[in-house]
Amino acid sequence: MIIVMTDSTDKQIEHVMGKFRQHEIEVHCLNSYGKTIITAIGDSSTCNPASFERMPGVEKVISIVTPFKLVSREFRRENTIVTVGNAVFGDKNVSVIAGPCAVEGYEQLLEAALAVKKAGACMLRGGAYKPRTSPYSFQGLEKEGLAILKAVSLKAGLPVVSEVTDPRTVEMMSEYVDMLQIGTRNMQNFVLLKEVAKSGKPILLKRGLSATMEEWLMAAEYIMAGGNENIVLCERGIRTFETYTRNTLDLNAIPLIKHLSHLPVIVDPSHGTGNWRLVNPMSKASLGAGADGLIIEVHPCPEEAVSDGQQSLTPHNFEQMMRELQCLAMAIDRVM
Ligand code: PEP
Ligand code: MN
Repeated sequence: MIIVMTDSTDKQIEHVMGKFRQHEIEVHCLNSYGKTIITAIGDSSTCNPASFERMPGVEKVISIVTPFKLVSREFRRENTIVTVGNAVFGDKNVSVIAGPCAVEGYEQLLEAALAVKKAGACMLRGGAYKPRTSPYSFQGLEKEGLAILKAVSLKAGLPVVSEVTDPRTVEMMSEYVDMLQIGTRNMQNFVLLKEVAKSGKPILLKRGLSATMEEWLMAAEYIMAGGNENIVLCERGIRTFETYTRNTLDLNAIPLIKHLSHLPVIVDPSHGTGNWRLVNPMSKASLGAGADGLIIEVHPCPEEAVSDGQQSLTPHNFEQMMRELQCLAMAIDRVM
């Protein structure tokens, strides 16, 4: 923490420094351009910056320690590698998760699974509990959907990820899926975060609709503080003034997260754009920015999809995109 003091008396300076010393924190003081700058070195997490702001003579308080700790690069320098079946996130691999927005039936999911596997996906996605904006929209096949996911996962030989929306279903869902997804709408559902931490399952943590980088990392901190470090972060677009796309895909997030955190980060260009035509170019951009993987919506027949058909690729679109991405991966020294 850095405390900047102006027109301060010796007594005021000593008061500030004494406060840090009370917490056994090393303090240094220097004078520069008529200001007194006090630097506190060490774990100042026990000191509340706001309490220093109120002290006489203090102009401003600059907090240099990030509020997130366990998920920070400072805590762990090397990349965390998350393994889900044969899918690996956080090493040289670019791992692609693909499948429909929602599980609609066994045939639909199996057709999607076999197609995405053939094209090189290493994991299957499919929602059984759909958090829809309207209560009148399709809410998912729920437990029946989970059973279909499990059956298709075994048949196709792909691990599965599916969204959990309720803390009461975490344990039950963990029997059916290999990875639990926290959707954008639940990124700050702290009860749910604590519950998935306990599940021991790898977690796909999507960025909240309007979440800052710090809020997103703090959500991951909840899971890690709960004893689960198998977390993959997912940038899925944020709310902006732009209406031509469903969301604005924030590609800044990828290199920033890689700098701030040791956790893997993947991108969801399907929800990030809301437009199937943009999925291929934004997937390439994501890889270029350093993403560890992608999650893509693929439906055997997007025009008949019960949800998100407008942003879903056909198996043919997906196969073509994967071929193009493989060339790109090679050029940037990644494995796909
Ligand atoms: C999804 O992946 O099915 C989904 C609903 O995504 P998001 O939470 O990012 O909107
Ligand atoms: Mn969707």
